[in-house]
Amino acid sequence: MASVGFIGLGNMGAPMMRNLLKAGHTVRVFDLSDLARRAAADAGATAVTSAREAAQEVELVVTMLPAGAHVASVMLGEDGLFATAAPGTLFIDSSTIDVATARLVGAEAAKAGYQMIDAPVSGGVGGAEAGTLTFMVGGPDAAFERARPFLEAMGKTIVHAGGPGNGQAAKICNNMLLGISMIGTCEAFALAEKLGLEPQKLFDIASKSSGQCWSMTSYCPVPGPVPTSPANRDYKAGFAAAMMLKDLKLAVEAAGIAGAAVPLGAEAAQLYAMMVGSGDGSLDFSGVIHMLRGKA
Ligand code: NAD
Repeated sequence: MASVGFIGLGNMGAPMMRNLLKAGHTVRVFDLSDLARRAAADAGATAVTSAREAAQEVELVVTMLPAGAHVASVMLGEDGLFATAAPGTLFIDSSTIDVATARLVGAEAAKAGYQMIDAPVSGGVGGAEAGTLTFMVGGPDAAFERARPFLEAMGKTIVHAGGPGNGQAAKICNNMLLGISMIGTCEAFALAEKLGLEPQKLFDIASKSSGQCWSMTSYCPVPGPVPTSPANRDYKAGFAAAMMLKDLKLAVEAAGIAGAAVPLGAEAAQLYAMMVGSGDGSLDFSGVIHMLRGKA
């Protein structure tokens, strides 16, 4: 069993960390929040008061932070972990961050002699608690193989997507497609209503026809056809619209840098920005159907 440092104990990080404890690892934790540190100590981790301390005398460090700036601030600079952690430490960044920062941090890790992977997740808080997350991994083969048993303690599906940053690239490409397909699904159901076509009838036909997609068959944006979809519980997330907006912004930003055209991704980002701006950011992203119907 290994000694692990874990930094970032929010909605996702806390249950992921607990799954490492469950697997028998010892874990040193740090979060800016006292409350989060205390809860982790109650769960059996050793709470310390800086990221630097959390990365001392451990075999690997997992970070689960809000955005690229947080990851860069923890890793880089004179006091950063790449200047202070023991030689041989493995770094796993599971935060969802921009591809450019993921590649920069990956390159700086290599320069400092450390192995590192970017390993963003999908599966949400439920998947983090159940240990069934999907990890999308970017980084060198050897780092991926070394990280795999630890990822297996927190997730079920683990895919190596290529070199540094490719985990983040996979995540934002998938979520951009999801954001667009949800809006398309909502438009179809909203149009059906205006045309006097019952939602269940549209579902029965489209879910078996060429319009079939995950947004329809797993997260159907109207109540009824898929009893487990957030529409049946007043659009309680689920996958919050604010998180979808974050991922769409990362996709549009990456497309700008790479010179890729993403007109529908950019439009989807605008629609989710309107939804979040109207105060509905904590609703499931399928709740965008209210806006498309022109109703609050
Ligand atoms: P969160 O805001 O609940 O947690 C982030 C934690 O990081 C907070 O506890 C905060 O105090 C801590 N933190 C911030 N800066 C820090 C620093 N410098 N040092 C130490 N701790 C610091 O966020 P979350 O929902 O747990 O998400 C974490 C990451 O996972 C994000 O990048 C998010 O996009 C991604 N993600 C979230 C979900 C989800 O459903 N919540 C799903 C997939 C991916």
